[in-house]
Amino acid sequence: MSGAKKLVVGNWKLQGSRSANAELLQGLLAADLSASAPRADVAVCPPFVYLAEVVSALQGSAIAVGSQDVSAQGQGAFTGEVSAAMVRELGARYAIVGHSERRSYHGESDQLVADKAKAALSHGLVPIVCVGETLAERESGETEAVVGRQLQAVIDTLGADLARVVVAYEPVWAIGTGKTASPEQAQAVHAFLRARLTAAQADAARVPLLYGGSVKPDNAAELFAQSDIDGGLIGGASLKAADFAAIARAA
Ligand code: PGA
Repeated sequence: MSGAKKLVVGNWKLQGSRSANAELLQGLLAADLSASAPRADVAVCPPFVYLAEVVSALQGSAIAVGSQDVSAQGQGAFTGEVSAAMVRELGARYAIVGHSERRSYHGESDQLVADKAKAALSHGLVPIVCVGETLAERESGETEAVVGRQLQAVIDTLGADLARVVVAYEPVWAIGTGKTASPEQAQAVHAFLRARLTAAQADAARVPLLYGGSVKPDNAAELFAQSDIDGGLIGGASLKAADFAAIARAA
């Protein structure tokens, strides 16, 4: 994917308010990313309740919108769930699925995450499928086994649609900790994921592979320069317009 445009996605997590969002979006619009960061496609993922408002604030800009999760269910008696069709109807383009915070705090299995990716795709959303190992798993040499297992469920479930997803490698130990994977550590896992995807389906060689975990303006360029890193999934730094814009410009 090197040479292609990078994809830089902000994950706001459980943060924001109408006024804070308006200020953040105003800052992003003022940064004029299509001119100042021409090598990056940019998206933001607010909490569900703000999706419509954020889509409307960004209308006509180059910044796309995504949800932070989506139900694997279509419709019916599933209290509290939000479907892919609903998210799509509001004008979102992406849906993050399988973030490690969903996997660990909500017990989401590899298969459920794969089913969510399938639901997203079937309603015209691009799923951003997150994979990543914990510190204990890395230290016991299981990184490839863990991310390989997480990815395999997606490969098996999506079949011919595999090439339509985005994959984000987010080592759990690097999320919100200020500890970034080194560019070499991230590249090694990305190369492994690329090989797995390509072995499953030739077309899937072009699946964008994002790195996430304490990406900041001062480490983004070095990460994005790696041959198999096609962009970033940004948590904390996506809440400050200046930082998020700087990361997009580092693409
Ligand atoms: P962080 O979060 O950038 O705050 O580490 C990344 C993520 O969880 O997507």
